[in-house]
Amino acid sequence: MRRSLVVGNWKMNGTLASAEALAKGIMAGLGSDHADIAVCSPYVHIPALSQLLKNSKLALGAQNVADKSSGAFTGEVSAAMLNEFGCKYAIVGHSERRTYYGDTNESVAARFCQAQAQNIIPILCVGETLDQREKDETFAVIDEQMDAVVAAAGIAAFNTAVIAYEPVWAIGTGKTATDEQAQEVHKYIRGYIAAKDRSVAEKIRILYGGSAKPENAKGLFAMPDIDGGLIGGASLDADSFLKIYHSI
Ligand code: PEP
Repeated sequence: MRRSLVVGNWKMNGTLASAEALAKGIMAGLGSDHADIAVCSPYVHIPALSQLLKNSKLALGAQNVADKSSGAFTGEVSAAMLNEFGCKYAIVGHSERRTYYGDTNESVAARFCQAQAQNIIPILCVGETLDQREKDETFAVIDEQMDAVVAAAGIAAFNTAVIAYEPVWAIGTGKTATDEQAQEVHKYIRGYIAAKDRSVAEKIRILYGGSAKPENAKGLFAMPDIDGGLIGGASLDADSFLKIYHSI
């Protein structure tokens, strides 16, 4: 039985004060320990949040991690640096990174490996654009995104990783994939892994991301291969994020 996971991706929003208030609001409403929960904050808020979240069930994550371990890489933050501040997770390959900052399948795979080398659980984002979906290329795109990470890290690395299926056309657009559309791709991803290692496939958590909100979370989370969510916009409001968490 896989334990569900809900992760908030705060992106480049808020101030330190608003981040702390949001984290406090979430912690206050966690209630029963029915699933795992985390927030991925901007880098500069991580030190303060790591203090605030100490001993809490709300885990901390980063929105990215460098593809190298250290050295002359201006502007990057290494996995070791994140580890020092208690980050449990790091998102890698978010579509906004792939689209606006040139992250490639290969650099995403390197980030994935860097995170794992510091015992940080990578949350690997995969997903197709609208154009790719319309051309029936969804599964081919997923294959390419997965192949690069499997080539770099090996299939066993997915024992300590999370995958987020995030159709690019659904991110921040208000357009959610239907429960069935999401399930179809989640099942495909699990099948991709099962073809290489059945036990890894049964264990890996595959989250859905893309305009998830309190109104549609229950239906998505009821699907057999959807193990939780990566939540953008709705994670910026404690009440909405908690409603999503409690709908698991
Ligand atoms: C995301 O950015 O990972 C995301 C899912 O965003 P939103 O929920 O706002 O679509």
